[in-house]
Amino acid sequence: MRVVTRFAPAPTGRLHVGNIRTAVHNWLWARRNGGTFILRLDDTDRERSREEHVEGIREDLAWLGLAPDEEHRQSARFARYEAALERLKAAGRVYPAYETAQELELKRKVQLGRGKPPVYDRAALALTEAERAILEAEGRRPHWRFRLDHGAPIAWDDLVRGPQHFDPALLSDPIVRREDGSWLYMLPSAVDDIDLGVTHVVRGEDHVANTALQVQMFEALGAAPPAFAHEALLVGSEGKLSKRLGSLGADTLREQGIEPIALVAKLARIGTSLPVEPVADAGPLIETFDFSTFGRAPARFDLDELTALNARVVHLLPYAAVAERLPEGMSEADWLAVRPNLRTVAEAADWWAILHGHVEAAADPGDAHFLAAAAAVAAEIDWEADPWRQLTTLLKERTGRTGRALFHPLRRALTGRDSGPEMAALLPLIGRDEAIARLGG
Ligand code: GLU
Repeated sequence: MRVVTRFAPAPTGRLHVGNIRTAVHNWLWARRNGGTFILRLDDTDRERSREEHVEGIREDLAWLGLAPDEEHRQSARFARYEAALERLKAAGRVYPAYETAQELELKRKVQLGRGKPPVYDRAALALTEAERAILEAEGRRPHWRFRLDHGAPIAWDDLVRGPQHFDPALLSDPIVRREDGSWLYMLPSAVDDIDLGVTHVVRGEDHVANTALQVQMFEALGAAPPAFAHEALLVGSEGKLSKRLGSLGADTLREQGIEPIALVAKLARIGTSLPVEPVADAGPLIETFDFSTFGRAPARFDLDELTALNARVVHLLPYAAVAERLPEGMSEADWLAVRPNLRTVAEAADWWAILHGHVEAAADPGDAHFLAAAAAVAAEIDWEADPWRQLTTLLKERTGRTGRALFHPLRRALTGRDSGPEMAALLPLIGRDEAIARLGG
């Protein structure tokens, strides 16, 4: 079977970690199976959908390395929804209803007051032709409801949640089209999934109840429903669906120096039985991706953990992956020397400045003689063969200093800092003449 997945955001805002996670899982499943990953823009809401958000979503997916194989927009497909509605009308699976929002609200209150579930009473289904004509003559416009088949229990085997069962008699016939002709999400999504040959619908568990309704829509339209995987929702480290998480976007994380592959690695694995591990590319994530590893408990997203993972990812990145973001002239050897000390790729520029820029002398006056001796040794040693080992060995012999008293003043004089990458890696990059000058020679 050719696998087709789709990620279906509404372009009403930027992507945030919650929906990026859904995108990651759809993309991984398609890649794992050599399938197709579709970006579907759910832009039926003309008021709230914005072109700038469409652009933002495309940019974010490209930055994340999740570029779609195909892109479709619901706003270009209204004729398809119209045709499906006509088919359903002909089959008696949709019916016009005329209640106003206030009337429906009142019905709900009465039902709840009687201790009954607020399921739509299908009053509109009982209207005669003549009654409908009267309502229309009064100027009422109908909205359209999908008639659930109460004789057909709804069931599917969810790839994450296992067997799911719903009794359609306990569900309201969903409204699929409003009075003003605009579409609700439910029917267009099912029509798209059929037309685009979607084989796996991967989305948040907040859609489980929609799936129950859509399963009957697929069947009413003569199509077998796709497979469904409803993933547990994402929560913040405090265990709640936080507002902050809902607004934490790819753009913000990018500004903070988070690597796209770190975010993908994190979102691919949290909430699964697989460990969150640093990777330099998506290969290992694709190979191991499997819905059977997904847990039912909410997935916890912790920004500090992402920052820590990001550092470990940076330590794995090859020069080729970062070269264009490094300062002009920074070589592979420079990168490999500083890489183990970075939290973000951008910090490489700080070390580049330390290697090749001006270093503020910050020597302790008590170290003056020691550093003069160091400058003399630096002028004698062979710079082709591990100069740091030669420098420290000879200095130890000549000055009697050991440990921190030996190493720390050298690091400070040579880098202007108290800590950093291995001096053995840095010293050859600083070079003989510059090192002698920094030691005060
Ligand atoms: N636009 C819907 C959402 O973002 C799509 C849901 C789906 O994947 O079917 O919730």
